[in-house]
Amino acid sequence: MDTTDWQACTLWGAMGSDSTDEQYPQRNVCGACIAEDEKRGEDAQIVSINGDYDDSLGPECGLECGMSADDED
Ligand SMILES: [Zn+2]
Repeated sequence: MDTTDWQACTLWGAMGSDSTDEQYPQRNVCGACIAEDEKRGEDAQIVSINGDYDDSLGPECGLECGMSADDED
């Protein structure tokens, strides 16, 4: 899949956790989910967009669409 519109993002995670990785998980997010998230306003799940798609974060979109960058188009 083309990941040109994907971004590596910091998300709101489990705020009750002691682990920063769980409170603010880093995930790749697809372009469609980024556009959806921008409409949510205060309910947004993305804390910040950090840059281009990052292989080290794994191929799955971090939001609810369930898309994987490894899937064929
Ligand atoms: Zn997505």
